[in-house]
Amino acid sequence: MRKKLIIGNWKMNLNMQEASLYLHKLMEVLKPRRDVEVVVAPTTLTLQSLSLQINRRIAKLAAQNCYWRDHGAYTGEVPAAHLRGIADYVLIGHSERRYIFIESDKDIRLKVQAAIRNRLQPILCIGETAQERALGETRDVLADQLTSGLANVTAEELDKVVIAYEPIWAIGTGDNAKPVDVKKATQMIRQHVAHLYGKKAAEEVRILYGGSITVDNAADYLAISGLDGLLVGAASLDIHQFTEIIEKAHKG
Ligand code: PEP
Repeated sequence: MRKKLIIGNWKMNLNMQEASLYLHKLMEVLKPRRDVEVVVAPTTLTLQSLSLQINRRIAKLAAQNCYWRDHGAYTGEVPAAHLRGIADYVLIGHSERRYIFIESDKDIRLKVQAAIRNRLQPILCIGETAQERALGETRDVLADQLTSGLANVTAEELDKVVIAYEPIWAIGTGDNAKPVDVKKATQMIRQHVAHLYGKKAAEEVRILYGGSITVDNAADYLAISGLDGLLVGAASLDIHQFTEIIEKAHKG
């Protein structure tokens, strides 16, 4: 059975002191669970210090982004190579990166490859816009983003990859996707992974949902068969809400 995975994306929130205090509390309240893996994604600046503070039996760390080259004249970027040993996972292609920072499919493909090369597990975020959804293009958009994002990933490397279904219109809007639609999207993703890598790989790949998750709606998604967990944004900033969501994954 695949373990449930709950990831808290802190986005550009929680400075060093706040992040350290949050992590301290999280380490106090969470117990190591065999059936739930917990990950938090703080800002890049805080990662190294939090990596010394965290108990990895209880939770792990994700970077929110990385650059794909390992070194060189790329002012302001942080390469996956420097995150190696500090973070366990890295978010790649989050919609805020795709749409605010205009990351291309090629950037995302290269970042997935750089993450794997540097022993980080990529969390490849994919999802359709409201317009694409209205036009009935969700299946094609997901297939294109998967084909492109995984283009350099071998069948052996696929077990390192986590796929997060994050419909753009549901992120940070309070307009969460209906569980029935998330279930359909999860099936579309598995079907396309099967097309690219075969049935076994498709059964094993971990798929998350993200988009306006709250304590009140989390259980509805955790009950979806074939869905392996949640990528939580705003609600993860409140430690009580985040731990309650984790508890639901444990019980679910
Ligand atoms: C996210 O940042 O990936 C996210 C899903 O945010 P929110 O839960 O705030 O919609």
